[in-house]
Amino acid sequence: MRSAVLFILSGCCLFIFTTCRNTQAPLQHTNNEPLTDLMEGNQRFATHHATHPHSSGERMKSLESGQHPPIAVICCSDSRVPPEIVFDQGLGDMFVVRTAGNLLGGLEIGSIEYAVEHLGVKEILVMGHRECGAVKAFIEGGSTPGHIRDIVDSIRAEQEISQIPANDKNLLNDCIQANILHGIHQLKKQSDMIAEKIREGKLQIHGACYDLSKGKVEIINE
Ligand SMILES: [Zn+2]
Repeated sequence: MRSAVLFILSGCCLFIFTTCRNTQAPLQHTNNEPLTDLMEGNQRFATHHATHPHSSGERMKSLESGQHPPIAVICCSDSRVPPEIVFDQGLGDMFVVRTAGNLLGGLEIGSIEYAVEHLGVKEILVMGHRECGAVKAFIEGGSTPGHIRDIVDSIRAEQEISQIPANDKNLLNDCIQANILHGIHQLKKQSDMIAEKIREGKLQIHGACYDLSKGKVEIINE
């Protein structure tokens, strides 16, 4: 009899525990790999079926005590490339770093290291886009005032870009792709922490390019 009561009680506890866990559901992500979630979201966005997930007051509240985004996205500051919108994601879904030309310096790499080390990010996506003004400014040359020169100089110094011949028939798109690959290489080379996590199989880095006219993200492989 006593064991039967204990069994029922433990069942109740399990039910309560499960129910309590379910109230935390907004914090859970799908079983998909993080990048798969993003690509599915991009498919919804590009076909005008965005669901704007994880934007409720309940979601906001559930994130008050902490964030655990599974993926970090580095992308251009361009107003036509807001990652949460083009991937149809919401609050707490991704850690984002944006600079013109998705260029990386110490502050940006440090931000990504923070996301990997303290927030548990498992994947990094370096995303460029078609018609990127920063890459165009490099190609067009000419004088660049103020710190805009830093952006152009930074792109000019990229080894991946310097390997592209000046008479390349697809110069802009090839430079955009080289710039994305540079971001991936830079993270691996300049961050011991990121390189180690990759070696241990705890972190993956991908490249991607966003097509402004189609609203589609294409994965770029190294
Ligand atoms: Zn851009």
